Amino acid sequence: MSEAQRETLVFIVSGPSGSGKSTLVKKLIEVPDMLFSISCTTRPPRPSEKPGEWYNFVSEEEFRRRIDAGGFLEYACVFGHHFYGTPREELDRARAAGKDLVLEIDVQGAAQVKQKLPKAIGIFIVPPSREELERRLRERGQDSDGEIERRLERARQEMTGYRQYEYTVVNDNLEEAGRRIQAVAVAARLSTARNQARVEEILASFGGTDR
Ligand code: 5GP
Repeated sequence: MSEAQRETLVFIVSGPSGSGKSTLVKKLIEVPDMLFSISCTTRPPRPSEKPGEWYNFVSEEEFRRRIDAGGFLEYACVFGHHFYGTPREELDRARAAGKDLVLEIDVQGAAQVKQKLPKAIGIFIVPPSREELERRLRERGQDSDGEIERRLERARQEMTGYRQYEYTVVNDNLEEAGRRIQAVAVAARLSTARNQARVEEILASFGGTDR
């Protein structure tokens, strides 16, 4: 079997906001043959966000229409505000391209993906401490004290879901954490199950198992 015909691996990355998750996802998709799954959301774009780059922005009506049409691999209402979902086509796109897929989704979405695709590989990003997360949020200078408290409480809630993930990366040092998340991808691709056909071929060139 050639590389391109191998089963697409699905990596799920979750973690609280401010944990450095997006930066680490960027590191993960630097690994060759990785495709980032572009989610659909009903939240409005931020000034820096171009549609179709990290998200596609749709109306709530359109989102509900896609739910009814079974268009999502998973979806969730995140923080009780806006809908976010992974279009099924993202998985088809990765399979057609012979690439692995990276989903940056919340813990509710991760649970749905694990149910449908039990072999999906979950990676949870953890901030090093509450103090450090608070420091990072204050440094961004975007939020009021009340908003920072709410974010810290949300972070606590999200972190209680970490046990459903196969891997955890504590983001105490961005460079190190970047190497660790890439190592997960490299190791997953080296599993015996995934490489069996190739090794069997090599073994056959030696005369096979029975001689
Ligand atoms: P933000 O609005 O800050 O970009 O993302 C808010 C949260 O929504 C993050 O925790 C992010 O991981 C999550 N999220 C983004 N896309 C999806 C998706 O397609 N499905 C689910 N379930 N969560 C998502």
